[in-house]
This record gives sequence, C-alpha cells and structure tokens, in this order.
Amino acid sequence: MSATLGSLLKSLQPDWSMTLLERLDQPGLESSGPWNNAGTGHSALCELNYTPKTADGGVDVSKAITVNEQFQLSRQFWAHGVDNGLLKDPSSFINPVPHVSFVRGTENVDYLRKRYDALAGHPLFAGLEWVHDHDEFARRLPLMAEGRDPSEDVAVSWTDHGTDVDFGSLTAQLLGNLSSQGADIRYRHQVKGLKRDTDGTWRVKVKDLDDGRTIWISAKFVFVGAGGGAIQLLQKAGIEEIKGFAGFPVSGEFIRCLDETVTAKHEAKVYGMAAVGAPPMSVPHLDTRVIGGQRSLLFGPYAGWTPKFLKEGSFTDLPLSVRPHNLMPMAAVGVTSWGLIKYLVLELAKSRGRKVQDLQVFAPLAEEGDWELITAGQRVQVVRKKGRFGGSLEFGTTVVNASDGTIAGLLGASPGASTAVAAMLDVLERCFPGQIDGWRPQLKEIVPSYGVSLGDNPTLYSDLKTWTDRSLGLAQA
Ligand SMILES: Cc1cc2nc3c(=O)[nH]c(=O)nc-3n(C[C@H](O)[C@H](O)[C@H](O)COP(=O)(O)OP(=O)(O)OC[C@H]3O[C@@H](n4cnc5c(N)ncnc54)[C@H](O)[C@@H]3O)c2cc1C
Repeated sequence: MSATLGSLLKSLQPDWSMTLLERLDQPGLESSGPWNNAGTGHSALCELNYTPKTADGGVDVSKAITVNEQFQLSRQFWAHGVDNGLLKDPSSFINPVPHVSFVRGTENVDYLRKRYDALAGHPLFAGLEWVHDHDEFARRLPLMAEGRDPSEDVAVSWTDHGTDVDFGSLTAQLLGNLSSQGADIRYRHQVKGLKRDTDGTWRVKVKDLDDGRTIWISAKFVFVGAGGGAIQLLQKAGIEEIKGFAGFPVSGEFIRCLDETVTAKHEAKVYGMAAVGAPPMSVPHLDTRVIGGQRSLLFGPYAGWTPKFLKEGSFTDLPLSVRPHNLMPMAAVGVTSWGLIKYLVLELAKSRGRKVQDLQVFAPLAEEGDWELITAGQRVQVVRKKGRFGGSLEFGTTVVNASDGTIAGLLGASPGASTAVAAMLDVLERCFPGQIDGWRPQLKEIVPSYGVSLGDNPTLYSDLKTWTDRSLGLAQA
C-alpha cells in the first residue's frame, strides 16, 4: 500500500520530500510477501464470496463488478509502470493463470450456473466459460479429475483472464524505483508513535533498530501503511476517527507443493465455496503460483489464531489495542460472531491428515508427503462500532483518515493488495482535496479508467485490456 501511494505521489509531486520507514530489513516481508498471501489478482473472476445468493434465489454480482473495476486500476498502474521503466520484466510479478470457480452437488451447481449467467454477458467478465462435463473437466483440470468419483456432480466456470501476482516482488520494485527518485527509505526503522505539533504537522517517533537510537521526523502528511499494525499507530496518533475501531487477528497456514510431477498437472487458481456459516476468508482454493520464475501449488488457507497483528508482531498487540471506545464493539462482535469462533476452533483442531483431506476434495489423489505446511500472513479483520453499543465484524478493507487529511491509514485485509491502487486513490481524494482536481489529468495518464465505469464503457475497457495485456505480458497466445 505504501509503495503504491508513494509511487503515485512521486509522479504527481516529484518535488515533495518523502520518507518511508520499515521495521524489517527488506521490503514486502509481511502480508505482501509472496508466500504470506495467495497471490490471486482478485478481480472476482473466480471468488464466490463476492457473489452471494440473494433471498429470492438469485445471485448478487454487484460486489464482483466493483472488485473487478478496482483491479483494472491496478492493472493499468502496473502497465504504466512497465511502459515507463518503473517496473521491470512483468513476469517477475504478474503471470496469466486461469481463474476457476469449482462447486459440487446439484444445489451448488445451480448456484454457479446462475452466477455464470449473471456475469457472462458483462464486458469485464467476457470470456467466462461454463464447464459441466466430466471429460472437459478432466482435460482442463487433470489433477482435480484423477481419482474423482465419476458420479459426482461437479461444475466449474473458467476464464483465461486471471492472474497470479507476486506482491512482494512488486513492492520491492516500486520501492527500489522510489529510492532512485530520491525518496528516503529506511529499513530497520520502527515507528513508535505520532504526535501532532502546534503548527499541525506530525512528529513521528522512530526507533533505529540497529543502534537503538530514537529519532523524530516531521511530516505534513503521514500514511500509516503498517498493514496489521496500522490500527495501533492510528490509535497512538490519537485521531478522533479511529475511535470505535478494533482489530481481530486471524492467522493462517497454506500447504505448498513444489514437486514438478504434481504441479505440471494443475494450471489454474481454483476457488471453492466456504462451508456454511464460515467467514469469507475461509474459502478453500488450490492455486498455481509463479514466484521467482518457479511454478508451485498452494492450497488453503487453514485458519489459526494468535493475538499478534503482524506475523513478526507481539503477543501484546491485541490486548494493548483495547480501548474504552472499542470495548463495546469488540464485546458485541464476540457475542454475535459464533460462526467465526466455531470455524476458528474447528480449524485449530485440524490435524495434518485432516488438512490433506480438505485438499483431497480438490485433488482426490493428493499425497501428504508431497505437501509442506507454511505459515501465511496475519489478517487483522476490522471491528467497527455500530450504533450506541453494537459492533460489526468486517472482512473488507477500509481507509481511516483524520478530517483535516493530514493522516490516513488502511485497515483490513481483503481484496487487499489487488486493489491497492483503488484504495490509495481513495486516500488521495480524502486527504488532498485541494490538489486532487489539479492531479486528475496526470492520474488519468497513469490509470486511464480513474473515475470511469469500464462496465459502462466497453470500448474503453477493450482498449485498456489490450494495452495492459500487452504491457504486462498477459496477452493470450
Ligand atoms: C493469508 C492471506 C492471503 C491473502 N491473499 C491475497 C490474495 O490472494 N490477493 C490479494 O490481493 N490480497 C491477498 N491478501 C491481502 C494482502 O496480502 C494484503 O492486503 C496486502 O499485502 C497488505 O499490504 P500492506 O502494505 O497494507 O501491508 P503489509 O504488506 O503487511 O506491509 C506493512 C508493512 O509495514 C511494516 N510495519 C508495520 N508496523 C510498522 C512500524 N511500527 N514501523 C515500521 N514499519 C512497520 C511491516 O513490517 C510491513 O512490511 C491476503 C492476506 C493474507 C494474510
């Protein structure tokens, strides 16, 4: 997020000075690291949690269209970066991988068909295919077909327009470029607190983790791009707008296969359905990953629990984030979120063998010995005050900013890195109301669909798709 915002601001105001503080010794080692997330270029091509069933038996596709529109902004930002030398060989961070939704059983097949019917005619979902035939299923997804009961009713929707993204590589490249343009990037520097000065500027308290010194940095604008740690820093800044917010951490694991005889049989990101009552981030998926030029398979996620807000965080993160203003929302969520709590308890109790059984729903002949367990990044779900005493648990991301626009931060995890550009454009609009109109022409050069619905402008979408496919190396053979 910070790398995206920094890159946008550097293009708009090259004369502004910029400092980026990172507590770890390299960029993109927390949630954005390639093995800490699933690397799905979230554009709702396959994720069923963006297309819930409606009460009348239909399918609501509005969220899917929004997420896809947001992802288009990211594609354009990255394509512009490649065209202008900010990003190198696109295959180092983005690769084409088909996106597939997978369901079993008549009722779910019926739901997927309705989803397909609702989306297939939409310009952003052009090319979506329906597969409800065992032979075709086996041709496209051999690993998932091997050993499968032929009487099982399975269906998939398929598109060749999906992507796998290495957000860690992307972060490192954007920051490398920012540094070469004069931004002051300091690793092993931890932000400890923020204070507002009498003239309205922020004084940021920073610890140099190498020599233990404390330094203070002044800034007219601060973006708290600390991932799961953002809520604590926004609380320390003492802004009114963070009141009523809390964070609920959920850790996770994936299982990974690097064996080429297995990975060669699966070339897709296949998303299934969450169990009834389970939260959206529990959706199981079997993903082709392309990291550092190597193809692998990732399956999961399996949820875990720790009070840490970052993978490299502290066990005191959650308790120290509790404040009088967020106690009631947290308590209310604790009482009403039985589905999540039950899901977490069941996930924690899962043995390794049981985890492989979950995988076998996707790949029936999967063998435990071919897969290794890896720890994923931390998600800190947003708890928000609702009404006087209530609270709600949210699974999306939300920008929180001070009303004077001098500080902003991003809370939450999903759709996450894929929609970083949309989220950071939102930050620019909220925090720079005096500049945004003057910036618009330059922003439209970087992200031409900024402010435009591509769904309503299919010709523009087609032109931009052709450009981004070509620049990002995603064009179909
Ligand atoms: C299991 C999992 C799967 C996911 N799958 C996907 C996916 O498939 N597709 C997708 O688009 N998104 C996915 N996401 C979400 C995505 O990973 C995140 O939304 C995104 O990476 C967040 O980026 P960020 O810059 O906000 O945070 P991070 O990448 O976490 O970066 C925050 C940085 O701030 C640093 N920091 C924290 N506190 C301080 C401090 N006090 N001082 C200095 N530095 C500090 C951290 O060290 C870190 O480097 C997934 C997330 C998880 C956890």
